[in-house]
Amino acid sequence: MREEAARLQKDALWRTLDDRTVAPGPAMVNLSSNDYLGFAQHPEVMLALTDAVERYGAGGAASRLLSGPLPAHEEAEDVLAGLVRCERALLFASGYAANAGIIPALASEGDVIFSDALNHASIIDGCRLSRAQVLRYQHRDLDHLEALLKSQRGRFQNAWIITEAVFSMDGDAPDLRALSALATHWGAWLYVDEAHALGVVGPEGRGLCAADGITPELLVGTLGKAFGLAGAFAAGSDAVISLLVNRARSFVYSTAVLPGLAGAVPRVTEMVRAADAARSRLRAHVATVHAGIATRSALSLPAAAIVPIPMGTPERAIAVSKALQDRGFETRAIRPPTVPKGTSRLRCVPTAAHSSNDLRKFVHHLTQVLA
Ligand SMILES: *Cc1c(COP(=O)(O)O)cnc(C)c1O
Repeated sequence: MREEAARLQKDALWRTLDDRTVAPGPAMVNLSSNDYLGFAQHPEVMLALTDAVERYGAGGAASRLLSGPLPAHEEAEDVLAGLVRCERALLFASGYAANAGIIPALASEGDVIFSDALNHASIIDGCRLSRAQVLRYQHRDLDHLEALLKSQRGRFQNAWIITEAVFSMDGDAPDLRALSALATHWGAWLYVDEAHALGVVGPEGRGLCAADGITPELLVGTLGKAFGLAGAFAAGSDAVISLLVNRARSFVYSTAVLPGLAGAVPRVTEMVRAADAARSRLRAHVATVHAGIATRSALSLPAAAIVPIPMGTPERAIAVSKALQDRGFETRAIRPPTVPKGTSRLRCVPTAAHSSNDLRKFVHHLTQVLA
């Protein structure tokens, strides 16, 4: 174990939980969260949570299949299904648990999964657990996907196409309408993970599927990002969700989501829907940062709020991140294995809680540090 640790340290790939040169304080501008709407510290969100704990108690007590109906969960699921316009939704403890449990419940030996090369680790792990054949297509590359569908689809029983709505480390989005059309044409089902789009993109923050007017067979949303809480949900038809209740092992064999968390979901969902002002503030912040780095990278305008700043080597990413920390800005170095070798980057995420001045100052310091 020590040798393995030493190897990671030598390659600048070692991570620690206190990877900060400066303690985060009120003076630090944190550009490394996924708290897109600034809800994690929002007084009304905190109140929704404490109120719900008072109403519903502390613990989930057992798996929901053992504990019986929990009104807070059912109400939260109705509200979330309504948000993404699906028949039914199901809460999970986290987005990781959702993907790792749902994919093996919906695909198995003899099936095939076409998976975007940059899909999140939780999707990759779910694919592995499923024992379906996994065929990775190049990132957002519809020609590659179509060629794979053409040559491989016929060999398998059921087929899924799995993509993120906004990619967590690149901040770009797939052409969902084209993916949906390909899925229909080749008899495949579409699975979309809206983790970084929900609350940020689309009418009332309903996500990229809503913005593009498509309904995937399975949609995953998380509550730990724009919602400022924790947890996740799956949404789809009643048939698909009932099957998950029976088969998704991270649902069946895991204690129910905290009732106080579920109980806060209806109010926080209302807040997410009403947060158009926060969303436009966020879009302006993203445009400021993007414009500030545009001369240094060919990256197009991010699809939501994730602005990757290419660094190449992990050493350079760490050095720039440390220099920015010294100047009061928290942006984390993202290194392999989270991203492919040679593509280490800073992942810069403005939130609606920042001021325009914060972002202007950040761009100024970033430009100085890079020079
Ligand atoms: C963050 C993330 C998850 C995991 O969600 P958690 O609730 O944080 O476990 C799943 N999928 C994607 C695409 C993510 O970015």
